[in-house]
Amino acid sequence: MTSQSTAYPFDLSIVIPLLNEEESLKELEEWIRKTLTRHGLSFEIIFIDDGSTDRSWSIIEEISRRQSNVRGIKFRRNYGKSAALNTGFNISRGEVIVTMDADLQDSPEEIPELHRMIVQDGYDIVSGWKKVRYDNKWTKNLPSKLFNWAARKISGIPLHDFNCGLKSYRHKVVHSIEVYGEMHRYIPIIVKWAGFQKIGEKVVQHQPRKYGSSKFGVSRFVNGFLDLLTIFFMGKFGKSPMHFFGLLGSFIFLIGVLAAIYLGVDKLIALNRGIAAPLITSNPYFYIALLSIIVGTQLFLAGFLGELISRNAADRNKYQLDTITGFDHNDHKAVDQLKKLQVKDPRFSESEL
Ligand code: UDP
Ligand code: MG
Repeated sequence: MTSQSTAYPFDLSIVIPLLNEEESLKELEEWIRKTLTRHGLSFEIIFIDDGSTDRSWSIIEEISRRQSNVRGIKFRRNYGKSAALNTGFNISRGEVIVTMDADLQDSPEEIPELHRMIVQDGYDIVSGWKKVRYDNKWTKNLPSKLFNWAARKISGIPLHDFNCGLKSYRHKVVHSIEVYGEMHRYIPIIVKWAGFQKIGEKVVQHQPRKYGSSKFGVSRFVNGFLDLLTIFFMGKFGKSPMHFFGLLGSFIFLIGVLAAIYLGVDKLIALNRGIAAPLITSNPYFYIALLSIIVGTQLFLAGFLGELISRNAADRNKYQLDTITGFDHNDHKAVDQLKKLQVKDPRFSESEL
């Protein structure tokens, strides 16, 4: 299977985000190369170094010097997995794009089938499902079950494992979506909202981490949860925030007005009859309820407005690139793309691109 007959220079682009994975990179690259060559698939590998401080980058440079189909981009600092994926997506040229983690937990042996499901079965995206996982039960498996359940309910997409790093996409799909923040966890939802319908799933092998340690701590849950909320509201109310906030706001306002009327009438009746009416405001719960409703609404609104604004921020997906490797300086298209990804920074000289 080659892509000679199609418009794409490669059957596959393998996009690999990584942060301090020096022990795994060589082994991973060799494993991918061996597997895909055996299956007769043409490919490029794109390493996105998300601000590693170990020897990862020099290993990528070394690999790309030897292999012409390996390219790398190094961020100047750690921007997160979504940023790395988005950058890889932007410069990918294959007919099918496969993303995988760099830590050897995802097996390259899965790639040919993930590719086949896109080109032959017609899926737009195929998400891996780590049915048997080798991660810590309490800090990872349980919360992940909960998140997947919530994501399923919200999106209506029947996937078991939204956050699996191993996924394949039709070329058009990755070039139609934008991922930032922590949204790599919910890419299938973003894909669905971009209008793609055929979302598939494939059970994949999962290995215990061989080297190094997980790069996500407890923040995984908090950020993941907030992003889930964002995704939910963006999808439901992003284009019409008033439908949600307007209704909620009016409702709460109405309760306030009714309460005020009641207080007033109660007081008037009491005064008329000459009874001493108890002060509602002397009950401390009154203040707690009042304050939390107001503050809660305000916080939520502020968060949502911030989100709307940041969605439109011109630099939401621009990153400080430190160095690149494996790019052809005469490939003006690639150089242009890189410039678009790169924030303006006088320290970064044009000659580096
Ligand atoms: N990673 C990254 N940037 C980050 C955190 C992680 O590029 O800020 C990469 C990491 O090197 C690995 C992949 O994302 O290739 C998945 O990370 P990890 O294996 O630590 O996550 P886990 O498997 O524990 O979910
Ligand atoms: Mg991992």
